[in-house]
Amino acid sequence: MFGWWRRRRRRRILEQPFPAAWEEVLQRKVPFYRTLREEQAARLRGFVQVFVAEKPFFGAAGLEVTDEMRVVIAAAAVRLVLHLDLSLYDDLREIVVYPYEVLRHPKREGQGAFLGEAHSFGTVVLSWPAVQAGLADPCDGYDTATHEFAHVLDRAGGGFSGTPPLRAREHYRAWAEVMARRFARLRGGSWPERHVLRAYGAKNEAEFFAVATEAFFERPERMQQATPDLYEELRRFFGFDPQQDPSCDHLERPGPS
Ligand SMILES: [Zn+2]
Repeated sequence: MFGWWRRRRRRRILEQPFPAAWEEVLQRKVPFYRTLREEQAARLRGFVQVFVAEKPFFGAAGLEVTDEMRVVIAAAAVRLVLHLDLSLYDDLREIVVYPYEVLRHPKREGQGAFLGEAHSFGTVVLSWPAVQAGLADPCDGYDTATHEFAHVLDRAGGGFSGTPPLRAREHYRAWAEVMARRFARLRGGSWPERHVLRAYGAKNEAEFFAVATEAFFERPERMQQATPDLYEELRRFFGFDPQQDPSCDHLERPGPS
């Protein structure tokens, strides 16, 4: 619920100027930020301020969480709700950041490397190197932070079911039909699904939504061509068309840092 107290608190947060150091972080570490039109960039900056102020970050394994980490992770998170609402993250209680990719469950994705996970009790766990690697190439369809925060949106719809809270009741039927069909085809190793979606999305409905979200943000042209109905459902949910932003070809790749 969005109470008057929090509304007032957020207004105070937004009255603060966006720190120049944070802007520098966005420019340097978040390539998709440079593709946003100014009105979107301004909205993202405001959401970043609120997210950083409201969400606790914890470093694991001795990591000291810096402002740079907070700003980068917040930017990745709020990008998903830029045309929705920050309230979709109301149940997100904390973000835990690891300084490395932890080897945990051999059956997890990425040859057993642990890159991130989202828990039903409101915790998102991220590997900082994986977050940076995911953002550094905004066009490869692979983004750890986008993936994990997609799980949080999914959970806001009740459980990890592959269905976030859609905008209208009448959207659910088409969503379920399209998702089920594309999921089944990906499981069967079908083309063109494999052309646009990572195979990990075949694991279950929740992973399908998370993997599809990565592709929607990072490979929108390919997705629209290969799986136009899936693209349309995601466009309707996220509330915008990522192809209206300059394509990846116009982005200069960031150097190592
Ligand atoms: Zn996942």
